[in-house]
Amino acid sequence: MQFSPYAAEVDPYTIFADIVAGRAPASFVYEDDDVVAFMDIRPWTPGHLLVIPRTPARSLAELPPEMGGKLFQVGQRLAAALRDSEVACDGVNFFLADGVAAGQEVFHVHLHVIPRTRGDGIGLRGHPRNARREDLDYLAASIRRGVS
Ligand code: 5GP
Repeated sequence: MQFSPYAAEVDPYTIFADIVAGRAPASFVYEDDDVVAFMDIRPWTPGHLLVIPRTPARSLAELPPEMGGKLFQVGQRLAAALRDSEVACDGVNFFLADGVAAGQEVFHVHLHVIPRTRGDGIGLRGHPRNARREDLDYLAASIRRGVS
């Protein structure tokens, strides 16, 4: 088993394990044998959902790839459901924080499915800059070497 670079720093217990086990309350929108989805308790926008595997994985490195695919597939279905629901939803963002530096707070992998409307004030702040092709090619080669 692989561990994320942050795994040693975090408590393996998460509230999501209790939600999956039915020991903690949640407002579910979807369940199957592999994943569950429920309302985020502190939504960025109304209707903000979390999709999680039933079997805990603290990081993407620990998550079986087929489960990553499953989270995305369920996220797609939930995005469609949000658009068809009474939730205000003109667009959808998927967001997944992997690691402390990425903003992960709950160490049980989860895909955020966030309904969006124009002017809702949600944003991922950053300062994009044009890059030189040689720098892009250099980093692309480095990344390619690590693709398993
Ligand atoms: P992260 O920052 O790890 O990507 O996001 C963790 C998310 O879990 C946050 O959006 C937070 O509101 C949500 N969350 C934390 N505790 C609970 C809980 O007990 N129930 C629910 N439904 N969501 C939670």
